Amino acid sequence: MSKEGKPMSVCLHPLGGGAAAAPERQPVCVFGTGDMGRSLGQRLLQTGHEVVYGSRRPLGCGPLPRGAQVMSYAAASQLASVVFVCVHREHYGFMETLGSQLDGKVLVDVSNNPEKNLYPEANAAYLQSLLPGCHVVKAFNTLSAWSLQNGPSDACRQVYVCGNSTEAKRAVAEVATKMGLAVLDRGSLSAAQELEDFPLQLFPEWRLPLQIAVGLAAFFFFYVVIRDVVYAYAVQGKDISFRIMVSLANKVCPIVSLIMLSLCYLPGIMAAFLQIYRGTKYKRFPDWLDRWMLCRKQLGLLALGFASLHVLYTLIIPIRYYVRFKGWDYVITQVKENQTSKFDTTVAWRSDSYLSVGILGFGLYVLLGITSLPSVSNALSWREFSYVQSKLGYLTLFLCTLHTYLYGWDRFLRPSTYKWYMPPGYVLSLAVPSAVLALKLLLLLPCVDRTVTRIRRGWERTDPEEEKTLLT
Ligand code: NAP
Repeated sequence: MSKEGKPMSVCLHPLGGGAAAAPERQPVCVFGTGDMGRSLGQRLLQTGHEVVYGSRRPLGCGPLPRGAQVMSYAAASQLASVVFVCVHREHYGFMETLGSQLDGKVLVDVSNNPEKNLYPEANAAYLQSLLPGCHVVKAFNTLSAWSLQNGPSDACRQVYVCGNSTEAKRAVAEVATKMGLAVLDRGSLSAAQELEDFPLQLFPEWRLPLQIAVGLAAFFFFYVVIRDVVYAYAVQGKDISFRIMVSLANKVCPIVSLIMLSLCYLPGIMAAFLQIYRGTKYKRFPDWLDRWMLCRKQLGLLALGFASLHVLYTLIIPIRYYVRFKGWDYVITQVKENQTSKFDTTVAWRSDSYLSVGILGFGLYVLLGITSLPSVSNALSWREFSYVQSKLGYLTLFLCTLHTYLYGWDRFLRPSTYKWYMPPGYVLSLAVPSAVLALKLLLLLPCVDRTVTRIRRGWERTDPEEEKTLLT
């Protein structure tokens, strides 16, 4: 008996749920001979099911997977207890006329909509309202016809299932499991809307990090264009606009990368200070902080992208026309004027340290990126993952910040650096990471660290019982 008390005629040999006595081999019915219907039917046949198609035009629906039968909707629905409805929602109407044949059967709604909130209710709920005597199960809609055709080796292996009848869901789960898919039960049919919205998502967790990246890149690009190119043209009468393509791009990329890397660690620090201030971990963080913490991985990956661009731009420096011209020009001038410049050990140390720290920082950056890949992070224990992402993450931030300090050295002290009172971009980029590192140091102080650790283990500054007594 189903949850609603209706008898279920689910018997899918050899997995048929309640078929104790000699189960009949029942075909699976697929309504619709379109893309989804064909792919699903083909996969069902490959996994040993008999397939019968229901179609408006059984004789004119074109070639179907080998071994499948095709007949009218009415005839096909009589042969099976599980019917996959591979028809668009707008055409569900014809099933009302099959009401009596479909009563008690499991209808698998695989449909999606072209956009969100197109209809007041989910397609599966609509189908259930049209055919109250059936057991509608929402499933397979998150798989594409293409991925179904590619077989179980494809990455799309999960099937989300929801429905009001446990037995109906079990019958669908049996078919899916036999097809080599992993079934995830999402509860009752009220979850159908969520499942139908799922394929319509467009990188939801990337939206905020991308907006931050584009915003920062645009701001710093215009900032360095005004400070370098426009200033040179307006004040010195020099046209150095060609520098936009490589030099300025190579200034913007590390700036954005460093700020975004520090933005990965800032929310964790803010959360710790908020917990110290509140004296408990049992109060929810504000929504914006929650959202920020949830997109740290994407922020970090975008930061790694900008750092990689910085590396590439730096590697091509020696082959740039401008650099080669400047180099030769310098050598020729030295020869003509019979001059030799003295080797400066301090500059050599500074330059080598700056490069070396940058290389180490980038190496760790790549390690952070690799460990954020699901296939790698799944192989790590929680402690290993948090060691890499937190401890090595802070070390990466420290090295990248130090790399920027070494790049600037004492140049920020020279008044000529401040064109139109504007500090160089790298000076601005140091503000957030320096603040993050300073606050992290503060959190590492034994007295602060002890309080945070206690709070995270459940300690509260005000005892809840005591608070209750105080209130009453
Ligand atoms: P499709 O190629 O357009 O096929 C739809 C089928 O519906 C038609 O071939 C037709 O089969 C049948 N149908 C019944 N009544 C109809 C009517 N009045 N007018 C037109 N067709 C009618 O669409 P599809 O791509 O297979 O998608 C079918 C369902 O699966 C949709 O709800 C879709 O959202 C869902 N889905 C599709 C994919 C995918 O990758 N394609 C993925 C997930 C979910 P007969 O001519 O045999 O009657």
